[in-house]
Amino acid sequence: MPELPEVEGVVRSLGPAAAGRTVRDAVISETIVRSKAESKEAILKNISPEEFVFRMRGMQVLRVTRRSKYIYFHLEKNGESFLLVSHLGMSGAWFAVGSLDEVTEGKFRRHIHVIFEMEDGGLLVYADIRRFGELRLIGEESDHPPLLAMAPEPFDEEAEGHFLELSASRKYRDKPIKETIMDGHVISGCGNIYATEALFRMGIHPARKTGRISMERRAKLFRSIVEILREAVEAGGSSISDYRNINGQAGSMQDRLRMYGKKHCPDCGSETKRRTIGGRTSVYCPKCQH
Ligand SMILES: [Zn+2]
Repeated sequence: MPELPEVEGVVRSLGPAAAGRTVRDAVISETIVRSKAESKEAILKNISPEEFVFRMRGMQVLRVTRRSKYIYFHLEKNGESFLLVSHLGMSGAWFAVGSLDEVTEGKFRRHIHVIFEMEDGGLLVYADIRRFGELRLIGEESDHPPLLAMAPEPFDEEAEGHFLELSASRKYRDKPIKETIMDGHVISGCGNIYATEALFRMGIHPARKTGRISMERRAKLFRSIVEILREAVEAGGSSISDYRNINGQAGSMQDRLRMYGKKHCPDCGSETKRRTIGGRTSVYCPKCQH
């Protein structure tokens, strides 16, 4: 699943490609239309395909930004502002192309679900192999309250204090630390890959109870997460599973991961262990992480 660095990679390439352009028309895949007809909410949330197409016609993209793991398209039509919020789910990808043939990777081309035909003739295309992604057209963030409940951006000054306060609260102190740091209310944008790496760097066992880690060590762990996220942003993210930026490129952070997906500990050579924590598989070194 794309985490903050991968979404940042998409936004950095999508922003310049989309800003200033206007949507002439939109095309929604048969799969989505059928799913909506069966009252399932595949990708398009809280809106019918017909209404989505109608509302997107004539929208100008002002800019594209990232908030946690979400992509925000800031839009304007007839002087009114809108927000198209995109979450990539497990395998969503955006492409800015002249024609659909330019989406060269078959697995994405076979799963194109939304096409924005731009006034200049180009296309903005959303493909999603497993359809866990989301597209939500709203007026502003407060129209979808979960967006307001997200932790501050990890690079913002108040993020560390927010983390220290929440991780000491009744709700989190008995939870495994890995589950706490992957919770978007506590830290924005940190998923399985970067949580695994930060805990290994800090020598902390992923199942350790949050409240059993001293405040000082929790502060260090937070800084370690921020450092890893920053490194990963610089490396263009990790090309694990189906992450691509809009040019179809993946990042190189996977070459620098030391624990995620590893069979042996790079420090002591021990066989790593796997355990399910908070519904996700956690890899750790039984000797180096306590
Ligand atoms: Zn080890």
